[in-house]
Amino acid sequence: MAEVPTAASGTVASGSLHAPRLARLRALLAERGTDALLLTALHDLRWAVGFTGSNGALLVTAAATHFVTDGRYDEQARREVSDAEVHIASGNLHAHVAEQGWIADGATVTVQSDHLTVAAFGGLRKRFERVEFDPVAHLLDAIVAEKSPEEIAQVRAAQAVTDAVFEAILPRIRPGITERDLAAEITVEHLRRGASAMAFDPIVASGPNSALPHARPTDRMFQRGDIVLIDMGAYLDGYASDMTRTAVIGPASDEQRTVYDAVLRAQETAIEAAHAGMTGKDLDGVARTVLTEAGYGAQFSHSLGHGVGLQVHAWPRLSQQVEHVLPVGATVTIEPGVYLAGRFGVRIEDIIALREDGCDNLTRTPKALLEL
Ligand code: ZN
Ligand code: ZN
Repeated sequence: MAEVPTAASGTVASGSLHAPRLARLRALLAERGTDALLLTALHDLRWAVGFTGSNGALLVTAAATHFVTDGRYDEQARREVSDAEVHIASGNLHAHVAEQGWIADGATVTVQSDHLTVAAFGGLRKRFERVEFDPVAHLLDAIVAEKSPEEIAQVRAAQAVTDAVFEAILPRIRPGITERDLAAEITVEHLRRGASAMAFDPIVASGPNSALPHARPTDRMFQRGDIVLIDMGAYLDGYASDMTRTAVIGPASDEQRTVYDAVLRAQETAIEAAHAGMTGKDLDGVARTVLTEAGYGAQFSHSLGHGVGLQVHAWPRLSQQVEHVLPVGATVTIEPGVYLAGRFGVRIEDIIALREDGCDNLTRTPKALLEL
C-alpha cells in the first residue's frame, strides 16, 4: 500500500500515515486504564498499521507496537506494515504473543469482543492465566469513522469507479436482459476499472422484485414499463463505494413518478440537513418526515443509511433505533426507499462526507428519473 501524505493539520510530527493512529490507540489505552490493546479485526489492522492480509494480530502497549502474522504474509507484512515491529508466528498468533512475554503477569488487556470467537477468547484466557481481559465491542468504530481528507478522497475514488460503471451499464438496461446478466456485468466492469472486489453482491431488481429491499438477482428478463433498481459497491485500495439508482424502462407511470419524486425529495432534504454533531437518528427522521408527509412513511421499511469506509457497512448507523452522534469526517450513505409490495420499489443512495457545517456529496451519478 502506498503511503498517503498526512493531513496538513500541524499535529503530526512524523510523516507516517499510521503514527498518529497509533498515538490515538495509546490515548485509548490511557482512557480505558489498561496496559495493552490486542487488536484482531482485520479492517482495524489495516487502519492501524496498513496490513491488508487475512491473518494478523496487533499488540499495542505504552512503549511498543507488535504486529504478528503467519509465514504466508512474511514479505507482504514487511512491505505494508509501518510503525510496528513485524513478527512471523509459526502457529497460533496468540500463542506467539504469549511466548514472547510482551504481556506481563497482572496486566489488563483490552480485546475486541466482537472480533474474537468464543474459542479464541478461551485460548487467550488459558495462555494468559494471570492477565485480566477487558472485552469491548465496537472498540474503534467511532475513532475509525473520523476520516482524514485523504481517506475521504479514497472513498470518493472508490465511488468514482462505481459512477463510471453505472454509466457503462446504462445501455444494457433494456428489455430482454436478465437481472443476473446485468449483475455479472456490474461485477466485471468494477474489476476492470481497478476494484479489488465487490463490497457486496450487486442488487439488480426489476419490476415487482424491486419491492424487496435486498433482492437477489434472478433470471427475470427486463420488460417495458419495469422499474429497475440497482445497488452496487466495490473496494478500491481498501475503501468501499455504495450507490443505488432506480430507473424505468420506457416512460414512467404517474405512480412510479410520484414515488420516485417523494424518495428523491426525502434524499435531498436529508443531504441538505446533514452535518456533523447531529445524531443519525435525527437525520433519519428528516427523510422519514418527508416520506410520511407524502403518504409513504410505512413503506420506508429500513433505516436511512450507514457509515462507509474500510468496511461497506460501518459505524455510525442512521436509524431510529440508535443515537450515534455523527463525527466530522464520517462518510455515510443516505438511502431512503419506498417499497410497494408486489408492485415496485424505489431507492436512491449517495455517499456524503460530513463537515461541521454541512456535507459534501461524494457521488456524481445524476438523480433525475431515468426513463430508458
Ligand atoms: Zn447500497
Ligand atoms: Zn448502503
